[in-house]
Amino acid sequence: MEKSKALEALKEYAIDPSVYLKKWKAKTGKKILGYFCTNTPEEMIQAAGFLPVRILSSRDTISLASRHLQSYSCSLVQSSLEAGLRGELSYLDGTVFPHTCDSIQRLSDIWAENLRFPFHWDLVLPVKLHTESARTYLIHELRRFRKGLEDFAGRPVSDEDLRKAIALFNENRSLLKEISRYQAQYPGRIRPSNLYALIKTANFMAKEEHNPLLKEFASQLGDGQPFRPGGVRLFLAGSVCDQPKIYDLVESCGASLVGDDLCTGWRYFAEDVSSAGDPIVSLADRFVRKVPCPCKFNPEIDRADRLLQRVKAAGTQGVVFLLLKFCDPHAFDYPYLKERLDKEKIPSLLLEIESGGLPLGAMETRLRAFVETMES
Ligand code: SF4
Ligand code: SF4
Repeated sequence: MEKSKALEALKEYAIDPSVYLKKWKAKTGKKILGYFCTNTPEEMIQAAGFLPVRILSSRDTISLASRHLQSYSCSLVQSSLEAGLRGELSYLDGTVFPHTCDSIQRLSDIWAENLRFPFHWDLVLPVKLHTESARTYLIHELRRFRKGLEDFAGRPVSDEDLRKAIALFNENRSLLKEISRYQAQYPGRIRPSNLYALIKTANFMAKEEHNPLLKEFASQLGDGQPFRPGGVRLFLAGSVCDQPKIYDLVESCGASLVGDDLCTGWRYFAEDVSSAGDPIVSLADRFVRKVPCPCKFNPEIDRADRLLQRVKAAGTQGVVFLLLKFCDPHAFDYPYLKERLDKEKIPSLLLEIESGGLPLGAMETRLRAFVETMES
């Protein structure tokens, strides 16, 4: 399985998404819309005939962006703006900014002013998710988005277009879930860095091309020898981690990865969209049903309860929180989640990460020590 042709292709695409995206655009002649945040209804972008691509830039050096942003903006925001200002996102025809944290909202203004892609959209999602009025408002906001996409596409986006896109994305989510569940059961069989490549490519590849590769990979689960017999069972939690080196570190420290609760991982594909009824309502309901990230409020879904359920189900021995530097929403969330893990006597470690260069030596020392305490 580690030698799978599908896996080799996905690993190559994961190194530099722009290579794939430029080729895809030349081949199809279609437009690409970038988006921030997993709360974006990608299916609507797909249904309008565009390719939805998540913007996840990782740069070591920030210079142009620092003229526009405070140095305490999170590195995802800084790095993405830097990539845009350097012309590295030239394959984009537009960008969608869902209403999440303050940094993303302000980035939207700076982006519109300085990058001037033909399409720019602020999707003003509700913060409070548990009331009927929030749901009604959300449905209205998604219909407004549909109209914006139709104007840009120059054609209507029918319910049938939306249903086809929903089916395609549900298939992708179900394949990713199947592979992740297998990983939790047999963590010695898929290298953490390979799992990263499978999920990372889902964030930007056309699902029509990604699904067959995932299917091929999933059909080979169980073939060949495990890359290692066992290892301490680690679980990653946090927001965004677009750092393949973190996954390499887990492996080099002799640990196994049994699951995650990241926005660039499980949270991206955990919830399906219902294929029944009005597709806009189904998309709204998926958003309301999702475990809310700390930028949203839903007292009916306890984030810590859900995290604990998944951590326990995966037989986790230790949780590693990955906190993106200067990400306030997740920094405020962390003490409460840690306290709940402490109460259950589940050890955890906090690692602060950045989009660009990482202090890998120091991180490896801390992770190795954490793993060793569990081994002993
Ligand atoms: S952590 Fe929240 S705001 Fe950030 S990408 Fe995930 S859902 Fe969006
Ligand atoms: S990582 Fe945190 S601060 Fe940065 S955009 Fe996401 S939620 Fe906002």
